[in-house]
Amino acid sequence: QTPPRTAVVTGSTSGIGLAIARQFAAEGCNLVLNSFSDSPGDHAIADGLAREHGVKAIYVQADMSKPEQCRALVAQAAEAFGTVDILVNNAGVQHVAPVEEFPIAKWDQIIAINLSSAFHTAAAAIPLMKKAGHGRIVNIASAHGLVASPFKSAYVSAKHGIMGLTKTIALEVARDGITCNAVCPGYVLTPLVEAQIPDQMKAHNMDRETVIREVMLDKQPTKEFVTVEQIAATVSFLCSPAAAQVNGTHISVDGGWTAA
Ligand code: NAD
Repeated sequence: QTPPRTAVVTGSTSGIGLAIARQFAAEGCNLVLNSFSDSPGDHAIADGLAREHGVKAIYVQADMSKPEQCRALVAQAAEAFGTVDILVNNAGVQHVAPVEEFPIAKWDQIIAINLSSAFHTAAAAIPLMKKAGHGRIVNIASAHGLVASPFKSAYVSAKHGIMGLTKTIALEVARDGITCNAVCPGYVLTPLVEAQIPDQMKAHNMDRETVIREVMLDKQPTKEFVTVEQIAATVSFLCSPAAAQVNGTHISVDGGWTAA
């Protein structure tokens, strides 16, 4: 019997990351959940998944804007479970403003969390994966890793950056049984998207329903939000044996957005 795989999912207390964690729990993985906070609620999420799916799950507080905490997250996962088989870089934040008004601190924070954290966690995980002779790194990018939208300079830059990082890592580890790929969601209705609605209403001078229909889903040809379960299933595929030769690329789950 093969031992359970150990999966680390950054930013997994909510939205897409939580759905990915739930998917891996359902597949019997040891789980390391993460966010920057350290509330009883955070640990309760890990405990709940462990109970529900009969797996081992721990919550590790680590701020993905801090390089040493990114690396410590991977070290703590290895300490708890022996190694890291799957690393999903999912933590992400957004800020919407024109370039000339974009707060410098927000730019730095978004580049740190949405891009640099994946460099640090991968740097810490790759030696473990090389030693094990296998590994899967999945970066949650975005349609904004492929195309831009106005007022999202930091986010679009970070997401384009993570596409380059994905390809570079893939080339470096291709002979080690490790793959590195990105998933590019379109609009998924999560707290992150919900939080953008007021800013978009202001930026476009529109009401909520009009922003959803004409701004957010304007570019999504299906006119439907992507679900978190659909993203989790795509990540699961990339971590399956069937995807062993899928390396250094991305899968778009965007309702056709980037086909245009
Ligand atoms: P969300 O806000 O629901 O979840 C983000 C998670 O990241 C939360 O668990 C949060 O606590 C965590 N996080 C935030 N800052 C952190 C930090 N400094 N350190 C550690 N964890 C931190 O967002 P979501 O919509 O589920 O987004 C998840 C990922 O998917 C992000 O990378 C986002 O860019 C990407 N994405 C989302 C959409 C969408 O439409 N929702 C579309 C494309 C890409």
